[in-house]
Formats: sequence, C-alpha cells, structure tokens
Amino acid sequence: MYCALVEPFPSPSYSLVEYSTDRLEQLESLVVSIIEEANKTTAQKVVGLKQCKFCDGLAHCDEVAHTIQEEALSVIQPDEEEYCNEVDINWSLEVALLAEKWAKAVKERARDYISDGNEVDGWKLRSSGNVKSISDANLCAERITDTNQLGWAEILSASSISWTKLLKVWMKKRNESGATLKRSDAVAELELILKDVLTEKPKAQSLVKSK
Ligand code: SF4
Repeated sequence: MYCALVEPFPSPSYSLVEYSTDRLEQLESLVVSIIEEANKTTAQKVVGLKQCKFCDGLAHCDEVAHTIQEEALSVIQPDEEEYCNEVDINWSLEVALLAEKWAKAVKERARDYISDGNEVDGWKLRSSGNVKSISDANLCAERITDTNQLGWAEILSASSISWTKLLKVWMKKRNESGATLKRSDAVAELELILKDVLTEKPKAQSLVKSK
C-alpha cells in the first residue's frame, strides 16, 4: 500500500511511502493498544502543551491544575537562586501557555454550564450585543450612491482596503487577461502602483515553539 503526504505550500511537493501488509498490521495493533491504554480510567495523565491543548478534558483535568499551581508556586518560592536558567524558563513558558488554554477551557465550561440552565454563584451570561457588518461591498456602494448623499470618496473614507484581498483579485484579473503572474510578480506590480499610499509595519514578534 502506498501513502502520499501532499504539501501544497510554499511550493507543491509530496512524499511517498510504501507499507507492507505486515507493517500495516503492526502499526494498527500499536495504535489500538495506545487507544485502549488511553481509555482506561487508570491511564496516566501526562501534562504537556502539545497534547493538552487538544484535549476535551482540559477544563476538568486535575493534573493540569496541579502543574499550573506547582509552577506558580515555584516562581513565588524558587528552590534555586538560578531560577531563571534556560531549562526552567522553558517549562515555565510551556505551563504559562497551557494555563492560558486551561483558563479558556474553564470559561467555556462555565458558559456551557450556565446556558444549560445551571447557576454559578456570582456569575451570569451577558450578551455584548450584535456586530453589524457589510456582506456585499459592491451592493452597499451602489445603494449608497443611489441616495445621492455620499460620493465615492466619502464611501471609501468609511472603508478599508485589504492588501491580501486586493492582491488576490489583482492577480486573478491580470492572469485572466493573459498575464502569467506569480504572487511575487503581483506584489511587485501593486507595490509600484501604490508606492505612495502603501505603508508597511513589522508585525509584533510572537513566541513560537521551535522544532
Ligand atoms: S488535559 Fe489532562 S487528560 Fe487531557 S491530555 Fe492533558 S494531562 Fe491528559
């Protein structure tokens, strides 16, 4: 049996692997044994951001709550003076990100609980109203100009143009009319045309896990 892993971005590629029947059977029994082990009520809970963030039990998990508590206490009363070494900060960071996920899961759990008709002392659900949005910019502009109240400049002053969407539509139109633009070509064209109105700010750096 052949399996292919197709990766469409950034440049399309695929990798192919061949499994023999024996190997597939081995893998199947390995997966089944792992699932059986995980489904046991005595299964060991292994805390880690990688797995816990996908776990439906996160808001209920005692092991996660203990880990967060332990880590918070170790910051308040570090065992070692050299608390801020690389190893500790790695784990602290992992637990901090896990605590964010845990807090979100607990809030969702409480929201579901209250919306099912239960009470949580001191808390209630409040609607923050509705958000209005324009679903069809063309039609909106047509309707507004039909009123003869606002012109194009005024309508545009109430809008924002998305660089990503503009780039997409630009590339589509140019290629439909015979050009063979890649994304980078379309970017270069638009950057030249819009050079006096295009601004660029670096995105804030975010923490990501390196492999
Ligand atoms: S949240 Fe708890 S049960 Fe779920 S994966 Fe993490 S440690 Fe295991």
